[in-house]
Amino acid sequence: MDLFEHQGKELFARYSLAVPEGEVAFTPDEAATAAERLGLPVAVKAQVHTGGRGKAGGVKLASDLEEVRRHAQNILGLNISGHVVRRLWIERTSDIAAEYYVSFTLDRSARKHLGMLSAQGGVDIESVAANDPEAIAHIHIDPVDGLSLQQCQQWVHNARIPAPADVAVAQVLTNLYRAYVEADADLVEVNPLIVTVDGKVVLLDAKVTLDANSMFRHDDYAAYDTTQSRDEREQAAHAKGLQYVGLDGSVGVIANGAGLAMSTVDVVNQVGGQPANFLDIGGGANAEVMAGALEVINNDPAVRAILINIFGGITRGEEIADGIIEAVARVDIASPIVVRLDGTNATEGRELLEPHLSSKLMLAPTMLDAARKAVELAAGGAE
Ligand code: GDP
Ligand code: MG
Repeated sequence: MDLFEHQGKELFARYSLAVPEGEVAFTPDEAATAAERLGLPVAVKAQVHTGGRGKAGGVKLASDLEEVRRHAQNILGLNISGHVVRRLWIERTSDIAAEYYVSFTLDRSARKHLGMLSAQGGVDIESVAANDPEAIAHIHIDPVDGLSLQQCQQWVHNARIPAPADVAVAQVLTNLYRAYVEADADLVEVNPLIVTVDGKVVLLDAKVTLDANSMFRHDDYAAYDTTQSRDEREQAAHAKGLQYVGLDGSVGVIANGAGLAMSTVDVVNQVGGQPANFLDIGGGANAEVMAGALEVINNDPAVRAILINIFGGITRGEEIADGIIEAVARVDIASPIVVRLDGTNATEGRELLEPHLSSKLMLAPTMLDAARKAVELAAGGAE
């Protein structure tokens, strides 16, 4: 679950971390009102679940209200790497003396948390990693031991962060690590972490990803869930309770069980196709669920063929067949459907489908055959 910058900063503030004062705005007028309350100059910042806003023109400084309105007008509606800006964060500007980089994330292979710190902040950390890897100081943190102030002092020294701010930076790192752990975050990244001209250490940016599985122990996370930006397809699928991930290809995939859905996506790739999505209708799916899944896939204009791959366990073949028949009757399915149906009551299911088979609805005996057929149809080489 990704947070907007301002949500991340609000979270940081709870851990005695200094963030600039600011307000959310949805219109140029709201932006101007916020700026008036905060005091000029302000930074007008796009709130989207992606980085690189500065480069894309999504972060602008304004010294009078007219400028605030103009920047707000320009930034709202801006498309930043596929994310359209609908909300702004107006914050009091900071006088920057130095910009650093810090992040915490989980290093699964090391089974430890990984901290990265660099005195070269404010720029793309990927380019620092490529051009000057020595400039990033890494630290592995055993989750049981935690991260001490002493370790942070050494880490700051390794990152060549100069005195006198080094002392304050080390303290900030211990607090940020505590925020990362206690918030059940998968990632916190602050770029830039700044030292102001009067020597304060301030978190000027916030990229935070929370582990959605921890929602049960954080009452406030439900509010974050409602601000997630899903693409339209994902939103429609989510509303129907389907496990859906949008992809870039043209073969719509429906399978039961996450494992089978992933295998289906793999097999489509293997036979030279591109899946349009991952969709798991879950175990024990009934006709209603299948019809709903077909509707979601059918509304995706990129889909040229649909591959339904079912191995019935709890899910019964005739329920699946009913769902397909119902969906085909209910909605005008735009793309041909290839069905592979196996497992519990597959014979009954196939018999139900038999009278409905056509050039728009086909059965295939195996997963591989079904994938080949669907990929061929998506490529336009029918029959
Ligand atoms: P990002 O481009 O999405 O990473 O957005 P950031 O929040 O990091 O902002 C981009 C850049 O704008 C920062 O690296 C700063 O250099 C600059 N910036 C942001 N806020 C301020 C501010 O209050 N004062 C000044 N002088 N620069 C700022
Ligand atoms: Mg940044």
